[in-house]
Amino acid sequence: MDATHLDMFVTALIDDLAPVPTPDDDADRTLFHLLDSPRRIVDEPPLLVVLVAAVTARNLLDHVIASAASAAERLGIPARRHLRSGADLLTMLGMAPGAAQRLVRVGRAAHTLPALTQQQRLGGIGIEFVDAVGRGITHIDNRTPLSEEDRASIVTKLMIQTTPAQVAEKARAIAIDRAATQPQEEGAVPVAENTDLNDMTLVQTDDGRVAAALDLDVLTGEELFAALDPLCRPVPLPDGSPDPRPTGRRRADAFGQVLRTYLSDQQRPTSGGVLPHVTLVRPAGIDTLGFTGPVSSVTADLISCDSTLTSVIVDHSGAPLDVGRAERLFTPIIRKGLAVRDCGCAFPGCGRPVSWCDAHHIRPWSEGGVTSLDNGVLFCRCHHTLIHHGGWQVYLGPDRHPWFIPPHDPAGPEPAHLRSHARRTLTNLPTAA
Ligand SMILES: [Zn+2]
Ligand SMILES: [Zn+2]
Repeated sequence: MDATHLDMFVTALIDDLAPVPTPDDDADRTLFHLLDSPRRIVDEPPLLVVLVAAVTARNLLDHVIASAASAAERLGIPARRHLRSGADLLTMLGMAPGAAQRLVRVGRAAHTLPALTQQQRLGGIGIEFVDAVGRGITHIDNRTPLSEEDRASIVTKLMIQTTPAQVAEKARAIAIDRAATQPQEEGAVPVAENTDLNDMTLVQTDDGRVAAALDLDVLTGEELFAALDPLCRPVPLPDGSPDPRPTGRRRADAFGQVLRTYLSDQQRPTSGGVLPHVTLVRPAGIDTLGFTGPVSSVTADLISCDSTLTSVIVDHSGAPLDVGRAERLFTPIIRKGLAVRDCGCAFPGCGRPVSWCDAHHIRPWSEGGVTSLDNGVLFCRCHHTLIHHGGWQVYLGPDRHPWFIPPHDPAGPEPAHLRSHARRTLTNLPTAA
């Protein structure tokens, strides 16, 4: 299909889909009649023909959407409707944000990649593939600027790949190859140090988790390593056996600690005049976090356990939930007392520093537990989570130090209780060493 045919196709499509003045015109709306077809196709050859035709139509329609959305941007249509971009326009029409972004990206890049656009007009390549080629070209161009000629020859090299992932891989290989062989301009910023290439994606997965991918210049990367390194240390289990957490898990835990340390600092940028912090909304029913949505009541309890984890707990109408909130919070004086007694995370074998610790209510505030030295224990986040989620129990012993009961079968014999990390000596309890 060439450009003229495409125009005819689009015109026919618009005629077919556009609202019509009278129901009589329905007779001409063949596409709708096709969708309504009462005849079920069960044989292999016609089914394959239908698939090929439908996939081609999809590719062409994606091309039409991409071109139309970027044309709308050039005409300033999104701005007139108080939208930021063509992608917002598509989202408003019911398209998923990721797909909308992709279409607009392809539409904007079309004029720089005529060979690719030509292929798209033939209906043989899908929008994901076209997008991968466009991104591959951008990836290479950002590192070693491309001439028109380079661009055309690289498009060809990328188009012979079979999947978008292979296109991306090939583009990275070409970029590395070019960086190694092309003479760098005098004073040009080396790729490794170029902050313009920095990128971070942050998406919430179907199961509600948050997945991140980072591409950082070497200095920011160095800062990341420097920040995480001391926090990644393995922490032995209470019985002295090695930390079972794999490296990736320890790194993720360390990253969490970096975020919490940052969020607990007052000297940082504000958002709408307030210091942004974790917000937990606890209406009757579902506990919900400000950015990421619903959480289990166990995690909501952990978040409410220590005020330093959140600035606000509000009900569904936005009103602060805790009357007597002041009493729920561990005051700086009680925290100091806890710091003197626990010397950091109290969990056996841990001892992470005081500044990393949440103050945990031994008897939950919601169940009538008071906020006092004798009802508080300091825990690093890892062990605070273990107490709330992991079946460990903590109580204040007669020595007024925290003691721990490992998870166990309630029907079986109770395991030996463990001392707090700070409580290495000076005890008259039989289980203490
Ligand atoms: Zn707690
Ligand atoms: Zn700990």
